[in-house]
Amino acid sequence: MSLSDLNYYDDLGLQELETKLRTDLNCLGVPGKNWVPRRDGVADVVIVGGGMCGMVAWLSLITGGMQNIRILDRAIDGYEGPWLTYARMETLRSPKDLTGPAFSHGGLTFQAWYRAQFGVTKWNALDKILRPMWMDYLRWYRHVLNIPIENGISLDYVENKGDLLRLQVSGVTDETILCRKLIFATGRDGTGSPNIPSFVNGLSQDLWAHCAHEINFSMLKNKCVAVIGVGASAVDNAAEALEHGATEVRHLIRRKEMPTINKMMGIGSFGFTAGYADLPDEWRWRFMQYSFATQTPPPHGSTLRVSRHKNAYFHFDKETIEIQQHGDKAKIFFSDNTSYLADFVILGTGFKIDPLARTEFGKNAGNILLWKDVYIPPKDEENDELGCFPYLNPDFSFCEKVAETAPWFKNVFCFNYGASASLGKVSGDIPGISEGAAWLARAIASQLYSEDIEEHWQLMLNYKKPELQGHEWTPTELHPNKDQGKVA
Ligand SMILES: Cc1cc2nc3c(=O)[nH]c(=O)nc-3n(C[C@H](O)[C@H](O)[C@H](O)COP(=O)(O)OP(=O)(O)OC[C@H]3O[C@@H](n4cnc5c(N)ncnc54)[C@H](O)[C@@H]3O)c2cc1C
Repeated sequence: MSLSDLNYYDDLGLQELETKLRTDLNCLGVPGKNWVPRRDGVADVVIVGGGMCGMVAWLSLITGGMQNIRILDRAIDGYEGPWLTYARMETLRSPKDLTGPAFSHGGLTFQAWYRAQFGVTKWNALDKILRPMWMDYLRWYRHVLNIPIENGISLDYVENKGDLLRLQVSGVTDETILCRKLIFATGRDGTGSPNIPSFVNGLSQDLWAHCAHEINFSMLKNKCVAVIGVGASAVDNAAEALEHGATEVRHLIRRKEMPTINKMMGIGSFGFTAGYADLPDEWRWRFMQYSFATQTPPPHGSTLRVSRHKNAYFHFDKETIEIQQHGDKAKIFFSDNTSYLADFVILGTGFKIDPLARTEFGKNAGNILLWKDVYIPPKDEENDELGCFPYLNPDFSFCEKVAETAPWFKNVFCFNYGASASLGKVSGDIPGISEGAAWLARAIASQLYSEDIEEHWQLMLNYKKPELQGHEWTPTELHPNKDQGKVA
């Protein structure tokens, strides 16, 4: 049977798809029976971040019957995550048939959503998912599941209050929220920040921007633009500048050659997803370090989007060591003693993992255990960047650097890119997030259950509802068989 024979979703229309999906969820008993003992004024779980990781975490939790949840996002409704803000690629890199946050529900996939509206012919003709369309899908996902994201609310600070967590939030409401568990579904920079090299220190703010910043590209018309780096975001930003009429755009690249092989994508499998977290430190480090060292190439389409412009250049072996302001220009100096004068510099320098760069933990961030506190790699596998990743428990929770100083870290779960060194690719990129969410919800359920063990035990003792009323059977005397007792 070919794909086109499996045409249930085709041209179904969104309304029908929604009806089918809701029926499926109902048949599967979603949301699951609420089993967590209620504590007045306390949320069982707060999810910070209403992007795809936050939403699939929510689905996974309510499927498991944990329904006393709040989900907060500082972004305005429909603009969660990078997709309509600083993401500047035309399409997603991931293949169109990825299942992402669908959590094993066929009707919740991007494919079902697309085919219900546009049919199989258009689906077959679609190459990659257009970026804004991915956001449309995520908005629909939120709508069809009725996910109660509270937008315009920022988590500013978390601390413990006895065995609870106290969250200080601001935005459309200024309140203190008490909860038992907190999930940081805070995105690509959710355990860190954009990586801003020190060579821009002192440079006027109107001469540079990081890819994750808002950039007024029309301002770059007729300007010479330097893009530092050649990762995915670097090339997308270069393309934007070129398409807005930049005079020239020059990628200034530290490495000697273009990375061309996407190693992590190549080895993606259920085995890797399921097995990575259980590997000893040296193997986990080795995989991640190798992936960092070989680097992920920019996507094929994005690279061509730059290269089709005659005024686009790729300069390798150009390590930026300093930038000086020369009037209204930026003079960039390289380690080979050459330089380039740019009108504007875009930092395609990615993100760094650094819990201290986040405000939510305050000074407690310094007490988060990191890989460098735990593992000393062999000389040829050293990597400072990787050493700054949090060293997480197998259930996504943070560990303390100094034992018994912040035992409440076990109630705070890192469900974002920062978890990847410890747990693999299950909480950042689209492909593995349903697996990660299932795993996270199971771990939280286990914690909640064991913390309330006395109440659950009492429930068992108190449970008195008979399944049999007494009339369903008749007791009788047992009489010996005729032959019983005779010796042969
Ligand atoms: C430019 C770009 C392109 C990408 N392209 C792809 C791709 O093609 N394929 C792929 O698989 N992956 C891609 N990724 C990686 C990954 O899929 C995305 O980062 C994705 O957005 C991760 O989803 P998320 O839910 O973890 O985070 P996000 O979608 O970023 O959502 C996090 C949310 O948390 C909120 N938040 C953060 N801190 C707080 C706080 N203190 N209080 C309240 N709210 C807060 C933010 O407002 C945000 O809405 C891309 C990433 C980037 C940055």
